[in-house]
Amino acid sequence: MSIKHNLTIIEENIKKSLKKANRTDDKVDIIAVTKTVGVESIKEAIKLGLKDIGENRPQELIKKYDVISNNANYHMIGHLQSNKVKYIIDKVSLIHSLDRISLAKELNKRAKINDIIVDALIQVNIAEEKSKFGLKVDDVIRFIEKVLEFDNIRIKGLMTIAPFAKDPEEIRWVFRDLRKLSETIDNRGYNNIEMNILSMGMTNDYKVAIEEGSNMIRIGTGLFGERK
Ligand SMILES: *Cc1c(COP(=O)(O)O)cnc(C)c1O
Repeated sequence: MSIKHNLTIIEENIKKSLKKANRTDDKVDIIAVTKTVGVESIKEAIKLGLKDIGENRPQELIKKYDVISNNANYHMIGHLQSNKVKYIIDKVSLIHSLDRISLAKELNKRAKINDIIVDALIQVNIAEEKSKFGLKVDDVIRFIEKVLEFDNIRIKGLMTIAPFAKDPEEIRWVFRDLRKLSETIDNRGYNNIEMNILSMGMTNDYKVAIEEGSNMIRIGTGLFGERK
């Protein structure tokens, strides 16, 4: 199937899910996840209007950035080692995987050096899977209160990766819990902490995620086909 065809299906599904959730005035941003995807396909996706590219490895992000440069916004969606921050800090528009203070420190330091503010989402491991990164729900408030000290980081919302489930209904609670957490944080009214973005939902589960409030989905396979 062509990327164009796949995108049409995804856009229809987004509309349906928004309707189902009585969210017809809302928008859902699609992050085109391009890990292992070649530059030609990425360029095609950009031509189709997809302007947000997601990569989970700094090295791949840099490589693609060099070719595609400022025709797209780059999202760092994977685990980020602190020693890689300096290579991507001036290239990313949003980091989805802020999950520890040592990383916040490094992000803040590099952002300061570059005289920029870095936008980030806090990654939460809602299902507390051992194989996944992210903070536990109970640790998020304490984390946020520490991040408040870092002037060059702006928190824009939360991100989660749900466990794989054949039937996405089984993991609906994961998305619901992330949204509830974001509301709890929002109600606390912290200065400089925005809860505008809920990055949740991938190819297998984005419909349910949107029904539960997602406004940013990260789609790889559903756009580009199975990864090699
Ligand atoms: C690979 C990846 C995705 C996209 O997964 P698909 O199932 O191919 O849509 C989304 N988010 C993260 C963090 C990923 O690593």
